Amino acid sequence: MIRARKRFGQHFLEPVWVEKVITAIAPQPDQDFIEIGPGPGALTRPLTQRAKSVTAFEIDRDLATALTEEAIPNLTVVEGDFLERETSDFRCQMSDRVRVAGNLPYNVASAIMFKLIDLHAAGVPLVDATLMLQREVADRLVAAPGSKEYGVLSILIQHRADVDTVLKLPAGAFRPPPKVLSSLIRLRFREPRPAVTDAALFARIVQAVFTRRRKTMANALLALEDGRPVSLRPAEALAAAGLDGSRRPETLSIAEFARLADIYVPRP
Ligand code: SAM
Repeated sequence: MIRARKRFGQHFLEPVWVEKVITAIAPQPDQDFIEIGPGPGALTRPLTQRAKSVTAFEIDRDLATALTEEAIPNLTVVEGDFLERETSDFRCQMSDRVRVAGNLPYNVASAIMFKLIDLHAAGVPLVDATLMLQREVADRLVAAPGSKEYGVLSILIQHRADVDTVLKLPAGAFRPPPKVLSSLIRLRFREPRPAVTDAALFARIVQAVFTRRRKTMANALLALEDGRPVSLRPAEALAAAGLDGSRRPETLSIAEFARLADIYVPRP
C-alpha cells in the first residue's frame, strides 16, 4: 500500500475509474504522450499499452523510481518538478505531435495549465491535454462572460485553447478522497483567438482588472497603474476600444479584452 504524500497533491485514481478515464483520453497506437504526475502508474500502464510512447514527469522520487523499475519499453520516466522543466527539454525529445494527460496535483493545476499553454506558444507541438482538475477550477475554465466563475483563468486559457468537460468524478474516485469534486477536461491547443499584439500586456490587463472584479472597468483599470507608469488613462483607453466604462470586468468577452489590450500597445 502506497502512502499518499499530501504536499505533492497525491490522490490516486481508484481502479474502477481507470478505464473510464482512459476511454475519455482515447490514446491511439501512433500517438506520443506526456503524462504529468504518473504516481503509482494507474493511467501510465494502460497509456503505454495503447499509445506509441509515454514520457512521464513525476516529482516524487520513490514513485518515479518504482515506475522506472517496471522497465516498460515505451515509457520514459523523468523525475522532478514538471514546472521547472525548460522548454528546450521538450523540443529535443519530442515527436511533431504530442498529447498530454494527467491526474493533476490540484494545488499546482493552474500553474501546470499555464505552463502547457506557454510551451505550446513557444512552439512545442502539443495537440491537446486531458487533465483531471478540481471541479471548481474546471468550471472556471469553461465559464462564459457574465457568470460568477468567469475570470482570469477562463479568459487566459480560452484565449489559447478550446476547452471541454469530458467526465465528472466524485471524491470517492480517488484514494485518499479529496475534499472536492473533480472533472476531467480537455484543452485543445490552437493559435490565440483573437490575436493580440502583446500577449504579456493582454494577460497583465486581465489580471489587473480582476483584482477589482466588483468595480466598473473605469475604476478596475486603475489597478494597471499600481507601481508602473501606464501610457493611457482608463477613460481614454476604454473610449478608444469602444467600451462602456460602467461595465464590470466579468461582462467583457475575450475579444473585448483583446481589443482593449491592443489600445495600450505603444504606436511608433
Ligand atoms: N496519476 C496518478 C493517479 O491517477 O493515480 C497520480 C495522480 S496524483 C493526483 C498527482 C501526482 O502528481 C502525484 O504522483 C504527485 O507526486 C505528482 N506531482 C505533484 N506535483 C508534481 C510536479 N510539480 N511535477 C510532477 N509531478 C508532480
